[in-house]
Amino acid sequence: MKIAFLGLGIMGRPMASKLVAAGHEVSVWNRSARQHVDGATTAVSPADAAKDAEVVWLCVADTAAVERVVFAEDGAEQSLREGMIVVDSSTISPSATLRFAERVNARGVHWVDAPITGSKIGAENGQLIFMVGGSNEAVEALQPLFKAMGKLVIHIGETGKGQAAKISMNLMIALIYEGFAEAFVLSSKLGVDPHKLIELIQASMVRSGVVDYKAPFVLRRDYSPNFPLRLMHKDIHLMLDTAKEVRVKLPALETVDEIYELSSEEGWDDLDFAATLALLEKWAGLGGQPK
Ligand code: NAP
Repeated sequence: MKIAFLGLGIMGRPMASKLVAAGHEVSVWNRSARQHVDGATTAVSPADAAKDAEVVWLCVADTAAVERVVFAEDGAEQSLREGMIVVDSSTISPSATLRFAERVNARGVHWVDAPITGSKIGAENGQLIFMVGGSNEAVEALQPLFKAMGKLVIHIGETGKGQAAKISMNLMIALIYEGFAEAFVLSSKLGVDPHKLIELIQASMVRSGVVDYKAPFVLRRDYSPNFPLRLMHKDIHLMLDTAKEVRVKLPALETVDEIYELSSEEGWDDLDFAATLALLEKWAGLGGQPK
């Protein structure tokens, strides 16, 4: 298929590469420094990337970035033709997704929200999980592309439901990680060997994929970004704002948001969100300045 891929960050770059490797014709665009992906052509604007495409795939930072790449003067909208599919793998607001979809639907174009989980390693290994909102027809047409980048597609429901599922799932990741971080710091202060703690956690009923993924990095105090703190913080605000829209209270998440605010003030936005543990260590007098 002919695909425009917009956004070549931690996730977008390996995703575009996987599409090229699967034999698709890919045109890429990135906001800063026209980055290159081997085997793809490099476009000068989102509209240029989308001009001959059947599918426009986005993986950019946030709601404002999606709005910019699709609807700005040089945005992909300029090149949309009836029957095309816009797929958004960014994590953005479910209600904004409905507004964006309505606008492209008016031109006979499908909008599919297909946010992802699996982080940097999942994207590099083609092992992403997509949670998808959109019509059966569009989701069916995208199957070969999902297969090129991922291991599982869950069609959650109509447009917007992929984003709704994604922010709900990330809410659990933020809370589970915070639970792990607090247990890790308390037990360290009490003199427990962290390797023994992790062995115990993973052998017991509280074992967790989040701990599986993050513990090796925490043990090395390696906070290089897989999922940057600024993006999890962005997602926490999406969750809190969306909860307010539908009158749901999230008291535990409000507390975790404060940890992210303070970590951000420490200047740790571009570190992995695992660095929030370092703030607890600092408060506990256990060092805690991430490298
Ligand atoms: P990233 O490395 O920070 O890349 C963000 C991308 O968005 C870059 O290409 C950036 O362009 C672009 N961008 C930012 N603001 C823009 C704007 N106003 N206009 C146009 N482009 C803009 O982020 P990522 O980790 O790839 O994440 C991308 C999306 O996937 C996010 O929504 C994130 O929440 C979600 N996600 C990430 C992970 C993960 O583990 N990393 C996992 C699941 C979902 P520049 O290069 O010019 O800055």
